[in-house]
Amino acid sequence: MTTETFDNWIDGAFSAPSNGERMATTNPFTGEVWAEVADDPAAVDDAVRAARVAFEEGPWATMPASERARLMRALGAALTRDADVLAAAETRDNGKIIRETTAQAKSLESYLDYFAGSADKLAGQQLPTPSPNFLVYTERVPKGVVGAIIPWNSPLSLLVWKLGPALAAGCTVVVKPSDITPVTALMLAERAGEVGFPPGVINIVTGGGAVGAALSSHPGIDKLTFTGGGTTAKHVARAAAENLTPAVLELGGKSPQIIFGDADIEAATNGLLAGIFAASGQTCVAGSRAYIHTDVADEIIDRLVARAGELVLGDPASQATEMGPAASDDQRDRILAMIDAARDEGATIAAGGVVDAELGGRFVRPTIITDVDNQCSIVREEVFGPVLAIMTFDDEDEVVALANDSDYGLAAGVWTNDIRRGHRMARKLNVGTVWINTYRNVSYMAPFGGFKQSGYGKDNGLEAIDAFLQTKTVWVELEGATRDPFVIG
Ligand code: NAD
Repeated sequence: MTTETFDNWIDGAFSAPSNGERMATTNPFTGEVWAEVADDPAAVDDAVRAARVAFEEGPWATMPASERARLMRALGAALTRDADVLAAAETRDNGKIIRETTAQAKSLESYLDYFAGSADKLAGQQLPTPSPNFLVYTERVPKGVVGAIIPWNSPLSLLVWKLGPALAAGCTVVVKPSDITPVTALMLAERAGEVGFPPGVINIVTGGGAVGAALSSHPGIDKLTFTGGGTTAKHVARAAAENLTPAVLELGGKSPQIIFGDADIEAATNGLLAGIFAASGQTCVAGSRAYIHTDVADEIIDRLVARAGELVLGDPASQATEMGPAASDDQRDRILAMIDAARDEGATIAAGGVVDAELGGRFVRPTIITDVDNQCSIVREEVFGPVLAIMTFDDEDEVVALANDSDYGLAAGVWTNDIRRGHRMARKLNVGTVWINTYRNVSYMAPFGGFKQSGYGKDNGLEAIDAFLQTKTVWVELEGATRDPFVIG
């Protein structure tokens, strides 16, 4: 296979790394390097400068909001037009099944359309005043230059979750995609250029952690938005603190799935399976710990073990495949090490727990673990792989305490046919999203983000735009001088 070479996208054009350094990106299914991208921390400075000029002096700075919206919609249409190309590149980069990368690529337009629709409705307020001689109003103005750092598991979607509200607000953006999945962000930026985005509004700087660190510590960044793991997030938050740069942090989870005795058993089993094995468990909302009521636990565990053995593993580019490989060898090794730790702590591996013998070394088989409790590492730590830990419970208060006993607070699933119990659980669970009799729904219309160690700030929903705006208050004395200027008030 020939290796493709991609440069950074800075100031509306591809730009070769000045240090000449490149890093490889590998197809996790074949193990082959398929592309090389720039790896030059110094390029961050060029990108931030271009974004600053575009924000302050370029056509973007004075462009009416409706025109910004038009460009966003045109970009959305270009992404839909090329959804198959983008999905194929994403699957090649991270091994996610083509059914999901295609659905995600086709959904990008709706996200951009939603935020485009809000761009020309971001009104301030005219406020009541202490005296009729004053007019006081607020304006909602863009934060400025945004630094966006993206992980590998849903690179295009998570990028658009950041771009949509940032562009609607009138910001310009410097993006650092994951070193594992750098290519689709460049493809998006090229299409932004094609539909007429002014140079410098969207910039992409590829590379490893040093590039991310250069971006998060850059004093020219007015707002950081990061999606990734908690350890990296702490580096980002420390760097942000040094410059007093505000940040949105969307981090990992250890999301509980709770199945009551009155649940629809078939629906709950499907929800548990898809909740953990979709995307090979490499999703922030993976429902990775299950609490099943003792009345139905045996039946559900039997069904889960049988179904886990039947899942179709294979080439993620095939429509028939239900589970692809781990996104990298490091990721596979991490998953296997965590399963080994569970074994050492006395857990039973009821299904999987090994790499697939026929598919080469990159597939961890769908794994179900029992005989664990809330103190076990496999129940407390994010695996980011196809590993479900199952526990049982007897009553509602007990399971609420167990579910909330976690450092994370991203999401939870509740399966019950008792409507009052469902809502009661939603109120008691200390997480950012609760799904009742469903799992893993996300939409541009619904705010998404975690509590506790799962981060702060929201992607999606109108709330997401607030992160990229700041409020300016304007006071006007209409006539004469009616107050003592030496006294504040
Ligand atoms: P990661 O934290 O390893 O990397 C995230 C990004 O940070 C990458 O672009 C990486 O290159 C960059 N980076 C690395 N070192 C850096 C540094 N010192 N300073 C700044 N940036 C740096 O995460 P990952 O492995 O790419 O993604 C998996 C994690 O992301 C999981 O924990 C998952 O739960 C989380 N995630 C969260 C959400 C959400 O919305 N809450 C969504 C998807 C993934």
